[in-house]
Amino acid sequence: MPKILIIEDEESVRENILDLLEAEDFETIAAANGRIGLDLAISEVPDLILCDMMMPEIDGYGVLTALRQDPTTATIPFIFLTAKSAKSDFRRGMDLGADDYITKPFTRSELLSAIMNRLEKYATLKRYLSAQNATHNLSPKMQLLEISLHRAIKQHNFQEFEIYYQPIVDIASGKIVAAESLLRWQSPELGIIYPTEFIPIAESTGLIVPIGKWVLKRVCQQIKSWRDDAGISSLKIAVNLSVIEFNQPDFIHKIINFIETNNLQADCLELELTESMIMQDVNSAIATMNKLRSLGVKIAIDDFGTGYSSLIYLKNLPINTLKIDRYFIHNVANDLQKSAITKALIQMAHNLNLNVVAEGVEAEAELAFLRQHKCNSMQGFLFSRPLPAAEFEKFLLTNKCLYA
Ligand code: C2E
Ligand code: MG
Ligand code: MG
Repeated sequence: MPKILIIEDEESVRENILDLLEAEDFETIAAANGRIGLDLAISEVPDLILCDMMMPEIDGYGVLTALRQDPTTATIPFIFLTAKSAKSDFRRGMDLGADDYITKPFTRSELLSAIMNRLEKYATLKRYLSAQNATHNLSPKMQLLEISLHRAIKQHNFQEFEIYYQPIVDIASGKIVAAESLLRWQSPELGIIYPTEFIPIAESTGLIVPIGKWVLKRVCQQIKSWRDDAGISSLKIAVNLSVIEFNQPDFIHKIINFIETNNLQADCLELELTESMIMQDVNSAIATMNKLRSLGVKIAIDDFGTGYSSLIYLKNLPINTLKIDRYFIHNVANDLQKSAITKALIQMAHNLNLNVVAEGVEAEAELAFLRQHKCNSMQGFLFSRPLPAAEFEKFLLTNKCLYA
């Protein structure tokens, strides 16, 4: 989860923001003045900084100026929190390199949308920089990750990797109808590392190609083994793809090969793509998707709502499933904006004959909302976290149901 540093001298405001961000699962660090804030920015290198403008000693301008002069902190997105709304203050902050402003008092959705917006741009920038430059531009932690990742693949032949399966449940019947495969890396040097950390490195180094191939191969073997050894059939397994894998010239060939070697029904496999992957080159993406479709392989759009959300293109895409990003599902029953958007997404997807999966369902109230609005399936901690294959198999064999 992205790490956010809050620099704010007023305790009540600071606590308020911390509560709000923690409820959204952000990792947070807080500083009560500019000096502590600067130290934490350098030692923790957060993914984003929220900083009050008016503080004693070093004010927000001072913090920003210092951050922008230090190469380790120079590019961290910086959002000013300010009670002032004078144009000249905005201008001064912008000239110093602030990325955005929020005027106090702000609503929760104003704050979150400013944060999400900045984080997304920053992620794109980081990907661009790491693709452009080799290792020397990475932080020491990233360099270590990169070296360990190389070793885990080239020398240890994927032994440190394991595929977890998170159940996807039909909301009407409560039965497990599918699962999403999620990669885990247990590094002896670094401990458990989540895909949000190592996939970007794998992408920038090209290691994503062997990783993706390994995942697809293992998932196909697993589907076969569940069918042949445990008698579990008609279960769909979703696999996340990276744009680099999807664009490999022999990608379709690999898919055909794995399906044929394991003698699988192609519709047991669903490939998850994101909007940004498709939008990079819409025509070639549609061509690849059509080839997959003609094989019988299913296609899902993952994290829908966080990227381009181009509803017009959606109509033209050969897809089966829309996965609504967990950002919209979190607290959907109580947040008027999220509930309006989610309702509209479900309805639109149904009009396009798509299957809708809600991601990140954690609360009964969220599930009740989804049931009321006829969302087809749910995935989330409320039913189960991602599980090792053997544990997921137990769920299947005991017919574990959402409504016990
Ligand atoms: P994703 O495809 O959107 O996967 C869903 C993520 O949400 C997973 O994180 C899952 O553990 C998490 N999640 C599920 N239910 C809940 C919930 O109720 N609450 C919360 N807070 N989180 C929930 P994970 O496993 O860390 O994976 C993160 C991302 O990494 C995935 O996002 C996917 O984009 C990528 N990824 C995972 N495995 C692979 C892979 O084999 N290949 C590629 N290319 N990407 C992968
Ligand atoms: Mg996914
Ligand atoms: Mg997702």
